[in-house]
Amino acid sequence: MKRYLNEAELTEYLKKDPHAGCPACGEDCGGWVVDGQPCRKTVDLSINDLVNEAHQNAINKGWYEEPRTFGEVIALMHSELSEALEDHRNGRGLQEVYFEGEKPCGIPVELADTVIRIFDTCGHLGIDLETAIRIKMDYNATREIRHGGKKL
Ligand SMILES: [Mg+2]
Repeated sequence: MKRYLNEAELTEYLKKDPHAGCPACGEDCGGWVVDGQPCRKTVDLSINDLVNEAHQNAINKGWYEEPRTFGEVIALMHSELSEALEDHRNGRGLQEVYFEGEKPCGIPVELADTVIRIFDTCGHLGIDLETAIRIKMDYNATREIRHGGKKL
């Protein structure tokens, strides 16, 4: 099971290497801030842990005070991919993370937003995403080349 370092562990970790573990650059994390932490080192955090964290954060931020349809939720997942496409159309690099004030932006961030929305939804609906991914990846490994000759 993977999890974030707690405050004491993080303090000790950052004493040894102030920029280690930064998910944005791996070296200089001065611009990367998550929940007020300059750097967030993860250890052994499972997909279902991320599902639970994303869903709890969405609850905490008021996204479950009014009901949403499944169709609306799926549309919001699409919207994050559209934001990634817009960044691409605007010439942003595929690995570029930039900031608007303190808000991280860019194609990697929009892809992360997509996955975070999927995590949140799975948490809400009680979907075991980790098992579903394993089942589908195992099946994909058995499929024909290009799934039987598909062009795209
Ligand atoms: Mg977004």
